[in-house]
Amino acid sequence: MPRPILATIHTAALRHNIERCRAAAPDAKVWAVVKANAYGHGIERAFDGLRGADGFALLDLEEAQRIRALGWRGPILLLEGCFEPRDLELCSRLGLWHTIHCSEQIDWLAAHKTHEPHRVFLKMNSGMNRLGFKPYSYRSAWTRLNALTQVEEITLMTHFSDADAKRFGQDGIAHQVAAFNEATQDLPGERSLSNSAASLRYSADALRTDWIRPGIAQYGSSTDYPEHDIAHWDLQPAMTLQAQIIATQDLQPGDSVGYGSAFVAEKPMRIGVVACGYADGYPRIAKGTNAQGTPVLVDGIRSRTVGRVSMDMITVDITDLPSAGIGSTVTLWGRAANGAVLSIDEVAIQAQTVGYELMCALAQRVPVVVD
Ligand SMILES: *Cc1c(COP(=O)(O)O)cnc(C)c1O
Repeated sequence: MPRPILATIHTAALRHNIERCRAAAPDAKVWAVVKANAYGHGIERAFDGLRGADGFALLDLEEAQRIRALGWRGPILLLEGCFEPRDLELCSRLGLWHTIHCSEQIDWLAAHKTHEPHRVFLKMNSGMNRLGFKPYSYRSAWTRLNALTQVEEITLMTHFSDADAKRFGQDGIAHQVAAFNEATQDLPGERSLSNSAASLRYSADALRTDWIRPGIAQYGSSTDYPEHDIAHWDLQPAMTLQAQIIATQDLQPGDSVGYGSAFVAEKPMRIGVVACGYADGYPRIAKGTNAQGTPVLVDGIRSRTVGRVSMDMITVDITDLPSAGIGSTVTLWGRAANGAVLSIDEVAIQAQTVGYELMCALAQRVPVVVD
């Protein structure tokens, strides 16, 4: 028997979450963001659940080729655009739409020979200060791009830094929306503004966004947890990580558990040893002290980790679960067989990170199935 650990990708949950994002912005088109191998879910595995989107957005040209290989003929957008001039040849060949965020990318396009003109997304740095043209140089970039025979259509685009929270105590996106609206005033073309958080928290009509770009919400994680959880947003976990108990131990008061003796029993306890560790992508810093553990579901019942996460194992409290033992299924995140849900956000917060990082970090050695 292979080591009893498994990740499951839930096609129906992906479909549901996409529809949920669409419902939040009913007049907008939806990019399914599938960068980082569909946030760790696997592009090929997530494809069926996400094909109801209007297009796929990603970073890596290799990932774009994989989407075309799946038979997708619709739009594909490179969110960081081309990394070197040669990449434009693949854009022409595969009909990829690409972001233009710097003047070098305009130079490359101006020198590119293509039969079919390209659809481009012109990115404004409206305040995040990563990619894009500053508002004062945006219009001249648009004018230059618009004059190129290589360009068919320009969509106006920006990205928010604080759509999931307030910024300095104020509305998190207002300053960027104002900068964007002012610099794009009377420029023609569609607009693309919202990531998951903005799509769910702000009205697409008010933002006048023609294309939303949800990533994390599709995979069933709430960007603004703990303010709102996935139940609040009506999202479903798209990935379940589960493993089995492979041993149990009885503890007496004073007995410690695992490396560093980070947990010490204060009463008689029974613990289960689970076949999942940090080499599987479970975060090593997830809390397992006496004061705080990280939630798990044992046969669908909530419990918590005790002791440090090691490479191949974690230990969980089964004192109050007399029927739990070797072979019991422990859900590390996602949905248990009895329907109970443990959102990846609840685990992430105990590891001082976000659901994004955990799903992207699912390790190669974990077998994955699609349901
Ligand atoms: C990753 C990304 C998104 C999706 O962000 P989420 O927070 O996962 O919804 C949207 N737009 C751009 C430009 C991105 O890079």
